[in-house]
Amino acid sequence: MVPHSAIEPPAAAAAASLAASTKASPPALLTTGEKTDWNETAPYAEAVEISHRLERASRFVKVLDIGTTPEGRTMIALVVSKDRAFTPEAAARAGKAVILIQSGIHAGEIEGKDTVLMLVRDMVVGKKFAPWLDHAIFVVIPVFNVDGHESFSPYHRPSQNGPKSTGLRNNAQRLNLNRDYIKADTPEMRAWLRVFNSWMPDFHIDNHVTDGSDMQYDVTWDMARNQDLADPAGAWVRDRFVPELDKRMAADGHLAAPYGELRNANARREFFMEVFSPRYSHLYAAVQNRPSLLVESHSLKSAKTRAWAHYDIMRHSIDTIMLDPEGLRRAVRDADREMASRAGNRSAPPVYLAGKVSDKSRPLVYRALKTGPYRSAVTGGNVTRYLAEPDDLETRIHDQIDTTVEAQMPLGYLIPAAWTGVADLLKLHGVEMERTTKPLDREFETYRFGNTRFQSASNEGHVMLDFEARPVTEKIMMPAGSYWVPLKQRRARLIMAMLEPQAPDSLARWGLLNSVFEGGRGDGVGEYLSEPIARRMMADNPELRRQFEARLAADPPFAADPRVRLQWWFQQSRYDAGDSGRYPIVRVWEK
Ligand SMILES: [Zn+2]
Repeated sequence: MVPHSAIEPPAAAAAASLAASTKASPPALLTTGEKTDWNETAPYAEAVEISHRLERASRFVKVLDIGTTPEGRTMIALVVSKDRAFTPEAAARAGKAVILIQSGIHAGEIEGKDTVLMLVRDMVVGKKFAPWLDHAIFVVIPVFNVDGHESFSPYHRPSQNGPKSTGLRNNAQRLNLNRDYIKADTPEMRAWLRVFNSWMPDFHIDNHVTDGSDMQYDVTWDMARNQDLADPAGAWVRDRFVPELDKRMAADGHLAAPYGELRNANARREFFMEVFSPRYSHLYAAVQNRPSLLVESHSLKSAKTRAWAHYDIMRHSIDTIMLDPEGLRRAVRDADREMASRAGNRSAPPVYLAGKVSDKSRPLVYRALKTGPYRSAVTGGNVTRYLAEPDDLETRIHDQIDTTVEAQMPLGYLIPAAWTGVADLLKLHGVEMERTTKPLDREFETYRFGNTRFQSASNEGHVMLDFEARPVTEKIMMPAGSYWVPLKQRRARLIMAMLEPQAPDSLARWGLLNSVFEGGRGDGVGEYLSEPIARRMMADNPELRRQFEARLAADPPFAADPRVRLQWWFQQSRYDAGDSGRYPIVRVWEK
């Protein structure tokens, strides 16, 4: 049984833009999607073969080897450039907008693969989109999760309406690449980060297919465009990109909406967008001050409808950028400067690190579907199904963000010399840093962790944790060879997303600094010795005794736990190193 939507957009039957592209193509450059009316998709080898055929057909295309998957497959990207700017350096010299497009990060959600190859074909063979190359250079990753793509099965996507067999969501290490942008555990993500951080695209597109309730919309999208993307890049998205894209999609017969869901609020159903963090592709681009379009076509629409949606939303996004490509380039570079200018400025606005969807809303007509019950022979009860009847809800959309975590941007961070893993990860993200040449022993700003709670289940191969991070100023010794990470650089916001511990995807939250929470230097002491030491301290130090008794009176769980009572005294003693539960990375305001 193939699941399907109760309703398809009328214009999807002809899918005029797809048909025109197919008609203009030589047979050797047709994808399996086109050849099977989107009932099938081919193994990765076809995308690689078509990429090479495009390279042979046009001087403007080059296929790059960008990395190797865990199962040993070669990851490719196509560069499309009229200037033959096939390296990041040459692209930077060309001074054109660089647009990075990727498909198949979740390999079962695959219509972006064939349709982006069609777009490249239409730039260099059919020439319909050749004018784009006067103002832009394209970097295209046709399949990101290659190993997942090759794990073909008809059973990977139970709620998806074709193609017959597809790849898998996760990579071969069972990790979701679209949660790996910050921690970068997978070889695929490490390859992607090298591509992103060397080519430094001005705009990014990530093609997906979403599951979920049936609706009239054939495509939904999400973009950072509130305080989660620095202005003027954010303003460019809000004021110039989104309204124009909406208009163009509607003119072609698409029903496009922001990505989100209806929830009960204010005694009715209201529409809520989601607040994402930089573990996701489009918010990773945002912490690098780059607009990114998350495309989510709908799993219940036919694969052909989805292909049509991907082709058109990419085409109209690029056409929208082409109205003023220099405007986009200026906006993102000004956003880079705006962020970097906050470094070390205590009166600059704090940097947004996390938020929740706002109670603030504005009117929206949401195009849902009516539902009706039917009697089930299986359950013996009523089951709800969607009907082919539009339900145009007069409601409100919540598409703003209330900030929940923010921080002032210091001049930079110092990472102790021993924390090489943290420094290496920052380098992979393109962060500039230098090593200190002499020890620094002085007061620094950092955090003390409290109320630490490790999550009870593994998440993407990590046991994440929650904590409170209390700002403190303490005398701390930073050995020679520590890493000085200045924030006066265009990646300032990314650095804060990784190093401010309370940020949702910080390295501390992902569990990359867990030894900090393990207490002490390892040379413990038995109770038979520590209790007499503590008793002696209590007798010699009336002030400590007074503090201890106050704590006993105020904190019954403390008073009831012999181990933590003894630990309290140990922490007051000179045997304690004092750095347990202290964040090892410090915030520096003056060099
Ligand atoms: Zn997806």
